[in-house]
Amino acid sequence: MHDMHCPKCGSSEVAQRTVNDRLRATDPRGQTFEIAMQLPVWVCIVCKLCWQGQEALAAKEAAYQNALVQRSPTRTAA
Ligand SMILES: [Zn+2]
Repeated sequence: MHDMHCPKCGSSEVAQRTVNDRLRATDPRGQTFEIAMQLPVWVCIVCKLCWQGQEALAAKEAAYQNALVQRSPTRTAA
């Protein structure tokens, strides 16, 4: 159930797919790093347009936060 429409041709014949994507991000220390992630995207069946919706933004944000946590261990070496 979704009410997504293609932003290009207006068709409601759209499908959600997951693609492998890489995100370039910068951590609080200013170091650039890449995140490999699964990105949910929408594909129009009619005109083959592929675009990112709010799910993609949320997935990117989650992947970024997750990567930050992994890069800055909260455990302190005793
Ligand atoms: Zn379309």
